[in-house]
Amino acid sequence: MRREPDHPAVVSAAPGPSAFEDRWAELEPEFRHCLELAWKSAQSGSLGIGSVITGAGGAVVATGRNRLFEQHCGDDQLAGSPVAHAEMNALGKLKSGRSHRDFTLWTSLEPCLLCAGGIRLAQIGTVRFLAEDPLWSGLSGLPALDPFIGAGWPRITGPADGEFAAFALLLPLHTSRFWTPGSEIELAWRAHAPALGELATELVASHELVALAANGTPVEEVLGELWERLQLSCGR
Ligand SMILES: [Zn+2]
Repeated sequence: MRREPDHPAVVSAAPGPSAFEDRWAELEPEFRHCLELAWKSAQSGSLGIGSVITGAGGAVVATGRNRLFEQHCGDDQLAGSPVAHAEMNALGKLKSGRSHRDFTLWTSLEPCLLCAGGIRLAQIGTVRFLAEDPLWSGLSGLPALDPFIGAGWPRITGPADGEFAAFALLLPLHTSRFWTPGSEIELAWRAHAPALGELATELVASHELVALAANGTPVEEVLGELWERLQLSCGR
């Protein structure tokens, strides 16, 4: 996907560690919402990815979360299938027959091929994501493949640096390590982010994240709990 440097509000200008509370308050509310949905997805046994769509005025018009391993779709439309992705569940709430060029889709993890296709069909104008997904780095070549694809391709911004992006990839890494250790996807993510892979392995072994999920711990408390280890994993 074509990428541009992320918004300065997401990337801390000051080097070195900073207090979690300040960083959480600085993070754009749409990304905070994505991480809340991502944590809800992980708490429910799914992959741990969340997405929000905002309209021209900035108001939230749709949300969705990954429900890959759940039976019930709740307020989404897809659950328990290979296509029950966060972005698809958010896009599924938009009306067909109109352009959404003035809409922005926010997501915790870079959209996959399926979701990129959905974003193109919905004519979403802008995409913002926190964590890079190395599985789909080749999608940046898609707009050049065909004039129809290229003409409606969104402006894409991401990945962000730092702890929030690390957490956005840690959740699906942890789920993959928990349910399908050694899978092709888990190995690709671990090769991309070895320190995060080690952290996911430690958290699976200690059951720490599972306990936080079972206790209904809010995402900001989970982030606070993991903050120093997230800082280490992203070199801060
Ligand atoms: Zn997807």
